[in-house]
Amino acid sequence: MPLAQRLDQVETSAIRELFKLLGKPGIISFAGGFPDSAMFDVAGIRQAVNAALEQEPGGALQYGATEGYQPLREQLAAFMRAKGVRDLAPEQLIVTTGSQQALDLLGKCLVDPGSKAIVEGPTFLATIQCFRLYGADLVSAPIDGDGVRVDELERLIREHRPRFVYLIPTFGNPSGAMLSLERRRRVLELAVQYQTLVIEDDPYGDLYFDAPPPPSLLALSAEVPGSRDWLVHCGSLSKVLSPGLRVGWLVAPPELLAKATMCKQFSDAHTSTFAQATAAQYLAGGHMPATLARVREVYGRRAGVMGEALRRELGPAIDFVPPRGGLFVWARLTGAGGKLADGNAFARKAIEQGVAFVPGVPFYCANPDPSTLRLSFATADEDRIREGIARLARALD
Ligand code: PMP
Repeated sequence: MPLAQRLDQVETSAIRELFKLLGKPGIISFAGGFPDSAMFDVAGIRQAVNAALEQEPGGALQYGATEGYQPLREQLAAFMRAKGVRDLAPEQLIVTTGSQQALDLLGKCLVDPGSKAIVEGPTFLATIQCFRLYGADLVSAPIDGDGVRVDELERLIREHRPRFVYLIPTFGNPSGAMLSLERRRRVLELAVQYQTLVIEDDPYGDLYFDAPPPPSLLALSAEVPGSRDWLVHCGSLSKVLSPGLRVGWLVAPPELLAKATMCKQFSDAHTSTFAQATAAQYLAGGHMPATLARVREVYGRRAGVMGEALRRELGPAIDFVPPRGGLFVWARLTGAGGKLADGNAFARKAIEQGVAFVPGVPFYCANPDPSTLRLSFATADEDRIREGIARLARALD
């Protein structure tokens, strides 16, 4: 089969391969990257579906505008304004089929073969694959518990003059890290100083546990003159409401937004109008605040239970920063006490013990740290989390 050469630049995700092993009966999985199905607001979504079909069946079932269903664009702009983004008009965003599509459109619009782009090390695996498919030459910027290291980021921008920098500043996947306010300001200053586009991918920002995170880069851009012209923001309803709806959105400077819209037209014409009308009714119906309160509370408790269990069961053999939001604990095996320090080998032993997680290596575009791993606390209840971590401890012995 004569396949396109660009396919040589990507391979099937290591995570998908691992998922094949998860069918084993009784396995406790911390491997997924998704929310808990038991948390879906089925009643609220049912009401929204009914309202969409009753009030505007034509709009909900007909072809629609590539930019998105206008009532949803209005709701999403209001949702963002409520989170501190000043002056966001509905016309400044387009609805995308998940934020994953926004990333793909950005790849299409911004990447030529060999284009340099900076991503965090580690970062979202599908982003690495998506940008590489278009030929991106990815550069890895190191992170710590406060997100990307801005001193290193500046050095890399000067050295590589990238087309863009892609960041997940708030409760990153897989890092769970929260970029500090001071660093957020610095990222925006760097964007202006070096005239470099910054892509903020923010599917997790609403999932905070105790206190809200600092404002998104998009919200903060009002304080850093000129930075809005160099900023792209991707949002998503997947982690807080339902990934199956496939509703995300893209905010970008006008020229880029117009090109992304054009590419979306050739790709899927528009995001499902049925899903968009449902999401619009859900937001208009005022269901979101209660849903957010519930997911924050449940995931916060699960994160706490996982953190305590890890400290208790694995002690100094594991190192991590307790996440303040999102779905993930990002951890490093220290090798203390002569224990295993390799994430891949640990993942195999863990599966034998009936527990799964994702080793950290695939999340790096370069220079992977083999001692790392990602654990999701989202889908197991508290007892299963405790049991799963006890199994992990056995796998490490
Ligand atoms: N960005 C990040 C960082 C993610 O973790 C995910 C989902 N795992 C996405 C984007 C894509 O989400 P969706 O397409 O469902 O909005």
